[in-house]
Amino acid sequence: STPAAIASALAGGARRGLLIKGGAALETLGHVTAVAFDKTGTLTEGRPRVVDVVAIDGGEDEALAKAAAVERGSSHPLGAAILDAAQARGLAVPNAFGGSAAPGKGVTARLMSGFVTVGSPRQAAEKGLLSASAAERVATLESEGKTVVAVSEGERLIGLVAMQDTLRPDAAAALARLKALGLRAIMLTGDNARAAAAIAGELGVEHRAELLPDAKLAAIAELGRDGPVAMVGDGVNDAPALAAASVGVAMGGGTDVALETADAALLSNRVSGVADLVTLSRATLSNIH
Ligand code: ADP
Ligand code: MG
Repeated sequence: STPAAIASALAGGARRGLLIKGGAALETLGHVTAVAFDKTGTLTEGRPRVVDVVAIDGGEDEALAKAAAVERGSSHPLGAAILDAAQARGLAVPNAFGGSAAPGKGVTARLMSGFVTVGSPRQAAEKGLLSASAAERVATLESEGKTVVAVSEGERLIGLVAMQDTLRPDAAAALARLKALGLRAIMLTGDNARAAAAIAGELGVEHRAELLPDAKLAAIAELGRDGPVAMVGDGVNDAPALAAASVGVAMGGGTDVALETADAALLSNRVSGVADLVTLSRATLSNIH
């Protein structure tokens, strides 16, 4: 292979906002057979907004304020949405102590009033906290494409918060381009099955939902049996998945962790940058071989 052709491709990519860490990453991109995408922050804007607060035991504002207290230390986009909503309502957010996050599940902290957990309804159901009527509310909201979190205090479910995110404007077209390049595209998400199905349906993409972090890694390993896999993420708790793929691609607005772990980065937030990377790599390989 000619180092000059590779250097020129890397430089040409960089001018278009496609950062590739080196010749090996460039070459792998040309051989990938599947591209896996994280949902939140990658195929969507990653700025979910609170659209419904459902009071279950106590008031709406109480549930939202307590949820915000627990999320104050969280870097998760759902946490930011809850904090914004509490602020928009002018709520006094109580102090919280000793917060801890369980990736893909939720966060817990101690408030003066007791231990409060904000997390997936599935976790709440596993702890026996979700009544039949609460489960029905969750199902309705989720089938509208919303992500719902359960707010519980001790052994009581006190409320539900539903959030909605926006698709990136070029996501559907970018996925279609990858398919036209002969690649399998798949969305991997920790989000609930109903919302994931609604979003995947709009995008016309294959998907797997309710994946805990380890299950995302297993899904990437499984795709890897058919050939090299690219994983595209924004680095908010998907750094392990970026590292596990044959080639990890970080979206531009992503975290420093993502940029460190990834083999390539898209400086613009265009999903179609992934197809640009593959096309650039294939063109370079065909000039070399
Ligand atoms: P994604 O794959 O869309 O990035 P995550 O794996 O980050 O999703 O999270 C999966 C689910 O875990 C969320 O939909 C939510 O139910 C729950 N969860 C994770 N982190 C938090 C948090 N900070 N606050 C509330 N819920 C959370
Ligand atoms: Mg994520």
